Amino acid sequence: MASSAGVVNIRRDVDDKFYRYRMPVLLTKIEGKGNGIKTVIPNMADVARALSRPPTYPTKFFGCELGAQTSVDEKNDRYIVNGAHDAARLRELLDGFIEKFVLCRACKNPETDLVVTTKNRHEDIVRDCKACGELTGVDMRHKLTTFILKNPPKNAKKGKKKGGNGEANNGNGDEGAEDDGGGSDDELTQRIKAEAAELNTDAALAKEDWSVDTSEEAVRARVKALEGSMAAAVLAGDDEGGDDDDGADGPYGVLGVWIEENRADAGAVQVYKKAQELGIEKKHKTVLVLIQALFDTNVVAQIPTYAPLLVKMVTSEKHQKALLGGVERLVGIAHPELVPAVPKILMALYQVGVLDEEVVTQWGTHVSKKYVDKDISKRVRKASEPFLKWLEEADDDDDDEDEED
Ligand SMILES: [Zn+2]
Repeated sequence: MASSAGVVNIRRDVDDKFYRYRMPVLLTKIEGKGNGIKTVIPNMADVARALSRPPTYPTKFFGCELGAQTSVDEKNDRYIVNGAHDAARLRELLDGFIEKFVLCRACKNPETDLVVTTKNRHEDIVRDCKACGELTGVDMRHKLTTFILKNPPKNAKKGKKKGGNGEANNGNGDEGAEDDGGGSDDELTQRIKAEAAELNTDAALAKEDWSVDTSEEAVRARVKALEGSMAAAVLAGDDEGGDDDDGADGPYGVLGVWIEENRADAGAVQVYKKAQELGIEKKHKTVLVLIQALFDTNVVAQIPTYAPLLVKMVTSEKHQKALLGGVERLVGIAHPELVPAVPKILMALYQVGVLDEEVVTQWGTHVSKKYVDKDISKRVRKASEPFLKWLEEADDDDDDEDEED
């Protein structure tokens, strides 16, 4: 694969001449002038081949990162980013693309396939690692994910091929493709385990502007939130078939207390097992309790941590409504200081795939006294407006940023 242009390690941070994963150095060429100035990447196809990704992905990634339009002519191998961008900058961005969309997050090996999975009518993109076998999710907040979902990888294989010979090639055979429909419980459990293994990385990712608060005050606030969760479980007793599970001794109360006591050590899997043990893992009211018992002022960072759990438990519109009810109680009662963070919270839930656009839109436009009083209900919905607006706009701007050359 070497060319006169030179070859570098796919992971440029690895300073090892014998590192087996190599790619051509990304080249750039500025064309045109004035408003029409653009940066052509003459060897994008070769670079992308070394990464086992379609060349449109890194090109589009550059566009997202630079806020620039891109154009692609695959037949003639023309990959273009509008504006003048220097090679060093684009190489840095390529490192970012590799980190976010190529390397296995568990073992950092570049031999991965991107696989689109669908759960609860929500799509997710995971890196399927041939080296260590882990499935690691990509950050669904990145704009490129929208493009990938619209243009899914053609050679995505579900079956794992053994015995990588080190050459990250782009073989297109579809031997090994299996239709597993994603429905078996075993697969779900496996996925939960895989995702649980990477919870820490996920949490770190989402932490950006939320710091962990372990002060006594924060702990007190969590206890208060828990009290809220019991009350909520009692309040919401009107629609799960009139069971008398609602007191502190009922399964919901027991789960809430258990989570509060074990939250520091219990991961998503343990929480799920506890709910299962109590026989309420399928109830929507359980979701209402979870939101309040698991989350505190760090909710935005905590959501990705518990994403596998939420994905497994939020399985219907009713569950989504309970989820939103939990959010109302969390920000309206336990942590009023979180009201301005409502758009971020909804975004985080949307991005892990447990909120449908229609459900959240319907929720946001209809005040309800079901979980909180009317004033709080109004305030929370008012605060959610920027997110709802974003949803509406994300719907509108479809392909208009793609321009054929
Ligand atoms: Zn791996």
